[in-house]
This record gives sequence, C-alpha cells and structure tokens, in this order.
Amino acid sequence: TKFADLKLDPKVLKAVAEAGYETPTPIQAQAIPEALNGRDVLGIAQTGTGKTASFTLPLITRLARGRARARMPRSLVLAPTRELAAQVAENFDVYAKYTRLTKALLIGGVSFSEQDKLIDRGVDVLIATPGRLLDHFERGKLLLTGVEVMVVDEADRMLDMGFIPDIERIFQMTPFTRQTLFFSATMAPEIERITNTFLSNPVRVEV
Ligand code: AMP
Repeated sequence: TKFADLKLDPKVLKAVAEAGYETPTPIQAQAIPEALNGRDVLGIAQTGTGKTASFTLPLITRLARGRARARMPRSLVLAPTRELAAQVAENFDVYAKYTRLTKALLIGGVSFSEQDKLIDRGVDVLIATPGRLLDHFERGKLLLTGVEVMVVDEADRMLDMGFIPDIERIFQMTPFTRQTLFFSATMAPEIERITNTFLSNPVRVEV
C-alpha cells in the first residue's frame, strides 16, 4: 500500500509527503481505509507503530469539508496525559497544515480563558485530557452534541489512571451517530467492556 492509494484528502497527502513518510505502517494501512469508510475502529497497537497518524489522517480527511460552529467541536480526541495530548496536537498541526481546520488543546496547567476563546470561535478538533474536558463542560461553555468523530487514545493508560468513569461520561455526552476510533495497547476486561458498550460493529485492527 502507498499513501496515494488511501483516498486521503490531497492536502493531507501533501503534508504526509512533506513529513517524509514513504509508506503507511501496518496499523495505518489497515485502519485508515476502514475509518474513511465511516467504520468504528478498535486499534490494538503500541506507541511507535504510527497509530497517531492512523486516526489523525482520516479524521482530517473527514472534517476537511465543513466549518465548525461556536462551542460545538466537530471532533474530540481524548488522551490520558497532558504530554500525550500535546503530542497529538503537534501531529495534527503537521498533517492539517494545508487545511483550514482549527484545533484546541484542553489540558491542565493552562488558563481556562485562552481555551474558552478558542472554543467560542469554533474548533474542528478538540484534543483533551478527560479531567480537563469535564471541567470545561461543567463550566457550561462547551457542547459535545456536534461531535462527529470521537477518538480515544491509549485507553489502557486511561484505565491505569482511573479515567474509565470519565470516559464513559464523555461518551454519553456525544451523539450516538458519532464515529468512534479507539486505541489501546492491551485489551483488559474493563477495556473490552467499554468497547462493547460504545463502539458500533467495530473493525478490530491488531499490530
Ligand atoms: P506513533 O506510534 O503515532 O507515536 O508514531 C511514531 C513515530 O513514527 C512518529 O514520530 C511519527 O512521526 C512516525 N511515523 C508515523 N507514521 C509514519 C510513516 N508512515 N512513515 C514514517 N514515519 C512515520
């Protein structure tokens, strides 16, 4: 498989080529076509496999058309830690470079007012840790009813950190009709339960 065969938005392909990627990694080759077809994806993959691009590239392609509305993000990416959320945001900036898509990074240790401003303007991609996202939600400044795609990254670490109840709450705040892309390095019983509850006929991709 080549990137050009993957039906990604041409703007995404241009950014990927510029990043120096020649061929998709196995998780990318398997997950990207399914995600582009609108399927829910359950990806079982470790860091270093290229999993971030395997959800970010189809996400950008799906959102490339259309504009965000105030306080209603079009997609949500949850990561367990500030560092991981910041890494996803950096990846997004590289791959979305030739699009007009907007993002906000909601992590602790940053003032609410800056994050509020971005949310008010409308964001295509909201990248957040679960606690900080819920803080914003409880302040009444954020609606998740417009979320078309929800991504959960490193679910096994979310479990270790006690975030599973938060994740369940957040899933329940988004529309049933959303697409879900869910990644975990391992499939503990509690992770299996969450995926059975919130993913709809997912394609399971394991590398
Ligand atoms: P990740 O597993 O998402 O943390 O990605 C691991 C590293 O691989 C990151 O530095 C990416 O920039 C890089 N990477 C992802 N996909 C590719 C690819 N198809 N070709 C070359 N490098 C890649």
